[in-house]
Amino acid sequence: MTNEELLELLKARINHNTWEQWFTSAQILDIQEKKVIIGIGNLFVKDFIARKYGSLVSNTLSDILSRKITAEFTFIPADQSTKKKAGPLIKERPLKLSDFNPEYTFNSFVIGEANRVAYYSALEVANNPGKYNPLFIYGDVALGKTHLLHAIGNHLMENSPDLKVMYVTAEEFMNDLMKSLREEKMDDFRERYRKKIDILLIDDVQFLIGKDMAQGELFHTFNTLFNLGKQIIICSDRTPEELATFHPRLISRFEMGLVVNVDEPDKKTKLKIAKKMAEMSSLYLSDDVVSYLVENIDNNLRRLRGLILNLFFHSKVTGEKVNIETVKKLYSSLKAHKKNIPQTKETLRVLKKNLILEAVIKEYNLTREQLFSPTRKKEISEARQILSFMLKNYGR
Ligand code: ADP
Ligand code: MG
Repeated sequence: MTNEELLELLKARINHNTWEQWFTSAQILDIQEKKVIIGIGNLFVKDFIARKYGSLVSNTLSDILSRKITAEFTFIPADQSTKKKAGPLIKERPLKLSDFNPEYTFNSFVIGEANRVAYYSALEVANNPGKYNPLFIYGDVALGKTHLLHAIGNHLMENSPDLKVMYVTAEEFMNDLMKSLREEKMDDFRERYRKKIDILLIDDVQFLIGKDMAQGELFHTFNTLFNLGKQIIICSDRTPEELATFHPRLISRFEMGLVVNVDEPDKKTKLKIAKKMAEMSSLYLSDDVVSYLVENIDNNLRRLRGLILNLFFHSKVTGEKVNIETVKKLYSSLKAHKKNIPQTKETLRVLKKNLILEAVIKEYNLTREQLFSPTRKKEISEARQILSFMLKNYGR
């Protein structure tokens, strides 16, 4: 059976309206022993279909082929998918290549002497992509580099929804490269990074120190995009020059555009940042608590944010207002906790998720079992909705 024939059979068995609304860009890409790979010409639609119709399509395909089949959906960029007219819903939506943290915006970024130049350069680039190319932002950890990259992404998604903006960490770039090599899909890889994007945001490029092959690939990606006038923005924990073992040709590319620094903010700016972070978690912190946090507890901005999130959950669960005593108590329990657990990204994530889970369970006075039971009781399903909201917004 050819791919086209299978598609026709599938279509015949799926509700006509559903098909017209969601499946018009569908293509069967591969029929395997246990899997059928289906290409969909829009990222949103792909995710939606996988979630909503995944099992229906798998079952229908199993039926048609008389063996157990799992349908797998994959995104194929527009000009590779069928030329058939896409449904109205599909057309209006911009192509979304990356998720940007909605909290990391230009608005929520506090400007001080130490980051002013970086801030305005990022804003300028977001307003006029291609003008300063590349933009290279460097500085120590937790000084707002990733925040600025996401701010650029959020700004572009809002103001130029037609531009295709991709955010990757250098690590993701390399993993993607390795995977594509392994699976002999380098054509797809190059297509993805060189042809399908208008703006490339690369975070933590220092990760590629000593990774020659990935550097080589980045060099070619860079050149192609650059020659097409596409904006590239790079973040690093050190200057281009200090990326000492990077290939000189790559370093000179990085130095070609605008190189800006984010420095450690002064105390006043840090206080403002802490206030902003609390504000964003809808947590009220009095001035004395904020300065206590910054001066006595931890002035690393990333840890400060973690602490503020914990304070937020704490006050949510207990209903208490946050004062200096609460801060001290919570901080010492967190420290005790940390001693026992290696602080990898993953454990931090798990910690956060557990905190959220506990907060919801307490808030609704439920047990874990009740929360995850299949019941539809109003209160429990509300608790579940809150849980999923909190996990989505704070659990990352
Ligand atoms: P980096 O990528 O430089 O290591 P991040 O962008 O992850 O740092 O920043 C760490 C945390 O501090 C984030 O939560 C970020 O929102 C916050 N942050 C850093 N600088 C600022 C600033 N100037 N204004 C507001 N928040 C900031
Ligand atoms: Mg970062």
